[in-house]
Amino acid sequence: MTTQAKSHLFYQSRNRRPVLDRARGIYMWDVEGRRYIDGSSGAMVCNIGHSNPRVLEAMRRQMEKSTFGYRLHFETEPAERLAARTAMLAPEGLEKVFFVSGGSEAVESAIKLARQYAVAIGQAQRSKVISREPSYHGCTLGALALTGYAPLVAPFEPMMRPMPKIPAPRAYLDGLDPDSEATGHHYADMLEARILAEGPETVLAFLVEPVGGASTGALVPPAGYMRRIREICDRYGVLLIHDEVMSGGGRTGRFFAGEHFGADPDILVVSKGFAAGYAPLGAMIAHDRIVEPVLDGGGFLHGFTYAGNPLACAAGLAVLEEIETEQLSGNAAVVGELLKSRLEELAARYPIIGDVRGKGLLLAFELVADRGTMAPLPPELKAYDRLVELAYENGLIIYSRRTRGGYSGDHFLVCPPMITTPAQVEEIVAVLTLTLDQFVAEVAP
Ligand code: PLP
Repeated sequence: MTTQAKSHLFYQSRNRRPVLDRARGIYMWDVEGRRYIDGSSGAMVCNIGHSNPRVLEAMRRQMEKSTFGYRLHFETEPAERLAARTAMLAPEGLEKVFFVSGGSEAVESAIKLARQYAVAIGQAQRSKVISREPSYHGCTLGALALTGYAPLVAPFEPMMRPMPKIPAPRAYLDGLDPDSEATGHHYADMLEARILAEGPETVLAFLVEPVGGASTGALVPPAGYMRRIREICDRYGVLLIHDEVMSGGGRTGRFFAGEHFGADPDILVVSKGFAAGYAPLGAMIAHDRIVEPVLDGGGFLHGFTYAGNPLACAAGLAVLEEIETEQLSGNAAVVGELLKSRLEELAARYPIIGDVRGKGLLLAFELVADRGTMAPLPPELKAYDRLVELAYENGLIIYSRRTRGGYSGDHFLVCPPMITTPAQVEEIVAVLTLTLDQFVAEVAP
């Protein structure tokens, strides 16, 4: 099959890509034999690389035993073991694990659990979930209402209840020092102001990515931000939910990105790197004190058919095993430092790069028209699209989003799998350099 063949598939647009043949480690090949470096781990999913033989073997073993056991009929060993292992990795007290098949489902589950908890403890007036702008928390209507990116949300607004947003702490755009606690407090205090404006008794939860993903381009919170957020949530009885759909699974150098900042959430959601693309899997992990009243009060009114699928859970277990035995989070920290320093060298060489940011192997760079003012490139250049295309033609997959206002800054996530070696970092940087040369020649010939 070629890309020209008639297809009955559709996704977001008519754009079609070459057909994937196979993938190993950090490389992928199309059916024409072209090789690509998976410089974004798919969509920050394939954290342990492609076709890991130990994960494949664990899945094969499980497949031979059973591939499905409905939760009303059976418990399954992989789900039980993965839940126990996940609870061990989670912050203290977050001991209850609810499985889903993806990130949007995990976010929906978290806000519905939070709501049922509030009702169970006699605080039924709490129903607003505050999140940030920009942000991406999923495409189902509940998760979309929490997504701070107008172009994605606007058509569906009449179908859902708008939820309050506060600005994401983009100190680099506001000319503030991200290493100063005053900056962290400045942005965190916007949460307090919003809670007070909404009426604290109506606010259920605050949803935040500890290290940002595609929407902010790997935004690392300024000093003191996450701790102050925790204090504010406690002050007003607001639940704190960490969205670690993208940042969880070891990519930032710790299994959960929240671990970097010394403040634990009440509920945490993870997906993408959790089963690293070997199976559709996600989890909501919640504090006992939240789950117990809900179960006592008649049960959690929520659940998906595929929840806790034994094959997906066996894959998840094998992925966790691989992350632990191969110390992949540690590698993400070390190799991430190297890649970040190389991106900073590119920034020194190309004035068009306005910012390099991120943690571990959750890294991004942003293109700007003017580094002094951080003014974005003209929207008609569609840099977010063009640079990705040039890189793709050069055999490197990177990931972009445009999220500054309606049109945005053009930022690019460079997030190869956690197995990436220093030599492979140099390979990625060489293709990026060629790509930036081509892009600069196009926009400023
Ligand atoms: N939350 C975050 C932070 C994400 O990055 C994503 C997806 O990119 C989601 C939620 C939604 O996940 P999914 O696409 O698996 O539904």
